[in-house]
Amino acid sequence: MNLYAGFDMGGTQLKYGLIEKEENIVFEGTVDSPQKTVDLIRLLKSLWGKLKEMEKGTIKAVGFGFPGIFNQEKQQIFQSPNYPDIDNFDLHPAISEFMDVPFTINNDANMAAYGEYMWGAGKNVHSMVLLTLGTGLGTGIILEGKLWQGKCGYGGELGHAVVNPDGDRCGCGSYGCLESEVGAQKIAKNYRGLSGKNENLTPEEIYNRAIRGDKAAEQAFAMVGSSLGKGLSIAINFLNPEKIILGGGVMKAGDFLLKPAIEEARKRSFSGSFECCSIEKAILGNKAGFIGAACYAAHNAG
Ligand SMILES: [Zn+2]
Repeated sequence: MNLYAGFDMGGTQLKYGLIEKEENIVFEGTVDSPQKTVDLIRLLKSLWGKLKEMEKGTIKAVGFGFPGIFNQEKQQIFQSPNYPDIDNFDLHPAISEFMDVPFTINNDANMAAYGEYMWGAGKNVHSMVLLTLGTGLGTGIILEGKLWQGKCGYGGELGHAVVNPDGDRCGCGSYGCLESEVGAQKIAKNYRGLSGKNENLTPEEIYNRAIRGDKAAEQAFAMVGSSLGKGLSIAINFLNPEKIILGGGVMKAGDFLLKPAIEEARKRSFSGSFECCSIEKAILGNKAGFIGAACYAAHNAG
């Protein structure tokens, strides 16, 4: 049995697993993400050893997704707003030291987009944009069946398009990026401002208040939804994609977020382009990254 391994390094957790090309997950696991890149490499080495020991089949290729914009030529993360320890770390030689099959390295959100494209909500589409909303906002673009990486590998960073020039400082150094306007921190900040309560809540806690009728909680999501809608309209007018797929933990807020986002996107997009685009929820959840990384390696490694 030919297998492909995928590793998806997230801010708090590392998801990994083994797949067959025919949409079958043979194994999957989750571990906490280390704070330091050197510890991360050590962890990847030990997980790789364990995957091989399982002897579930022949692992033909391995794909990695790391957070941050990835320089294809140097095979390094150039800048990671949410995991700065990895910036300019020489990933390729560090992985080569223990990896004995062909492998690929890429940006984590690109890999999640590839996963949704291969196995998820984006199957067989002409073009799509994936947005994953969590602590940050990751995006990946598929154009005419191919992952769009840009000339140097930095493409698909819609999260750092400015939707509010007077907004908060973003991890990338700019202000009012889509990421900083819709991230978990912003929802909590909106809620503090609206409720007058000095609490630092998670999006889930604020969602629980919204469903109990807390107007400030509802409004905190509506404000973020409106910013998200501006981001969607940029993607719609700029790319005219067949689908925009929305994933990530914050999407659990459902219509509190989605309704204002779609309303805003409709207002700000060309109507033809808006009607042409289907806005849907992602279906692979937090598995999209490792599945995408493994599929990408299956098609591109070696
Ligand atoms: Zn930014």
